[in-house]
Amino acid sequence: MNYNGIISDQKALTHELGHGINFYLMGNSVDYLYCSSPIYEMEIPSTFNEELFVDSVVQNSDKDTAVTVLSQHIGEYQNYFTRQPMITEFEHKAHQMCAENGTASGGDLNAIWTNLSKEYGSDSVELYNEDSAEWAYINHIYLTNNYYTFNYAVSKAISLSLFKQYKEDPETFNKNYIAYLSAGSTITPEEKLKKYFRIEINRQLFEDAMNVVEMRIRQLEELDSGEKEPEYESAVESLNIYSGSFWSRPLQSNHLED
Ligand SMILES: [Zn+2]
Repeated sequence: MNYNGIISDQKALTHELGHGINFYLMGNSVDYLYCSSPIYEMEIPSTFNEELFVDSVVQNSDKDTAVTVLSQHIGEYQNYFTRQPMITEFEHKAHQMCAENGTASGGDLNAIWTNLSKEYGSDSVELYNEDSAEWAYINHIYLTNNYYTFNYAVSKAISLSLFKQYKEDPETFNKNYIAYLSAGSTITPEEKLKKYFRIEINRQLFEDAMNVVEMRIRQLEELDSGEKEPEYESAVESLNIYSGSFWSRPLQSNHLED
């Protein structure tokens, strides 16, 4: 990966290190034939690491940085839990239509997409006519397995549930997590989650995940309202983080003038 030290690079590196440590632990524990897993499971350690990264930023950065990173991260939850499942629901409805009618026209598909966009979206978002064809550029619908995008939601829900357990009891969690990441495909993903974390892929899983989402929103509200000041502030840190970054945040910050 490219790495210039800006905050988005740091987050990407943390993500990739999640994959790295997973392969390292599997490689040291099981035959290489078992060093694999389905896509949704693959992304669990990497997206878990992103949560650790956000925690670290909130604890160690100046307020502007923490607010920016948290806002961006909460926006990602919105993508994982509403946008990607909406694409899956669109696919499902399209398949159903083809099964019932033998075919589906572009107009039919546009209508399904528009209805779902209204259902999933907020009234405050106005849709253009052209938005009804937005489904056409989502290449997962054509190029990958059916219902691919729901992987994102399941995977993220699992990593957030794990993160919740980590926050509650890090010591016990860490022991189980190392064993979990080491097991590879010697047992199925479902059995592994049950064995090490008593997690099942059901509604409770998503509710636990939403607790973490709520925790992040609270963190953002507290920081933004000034209720909770960050523990560490540094003008140099702000400069390092913002210069050349894709956050497109102007380099004017109170910290720099202080
Ligand atoms: Zn990844």
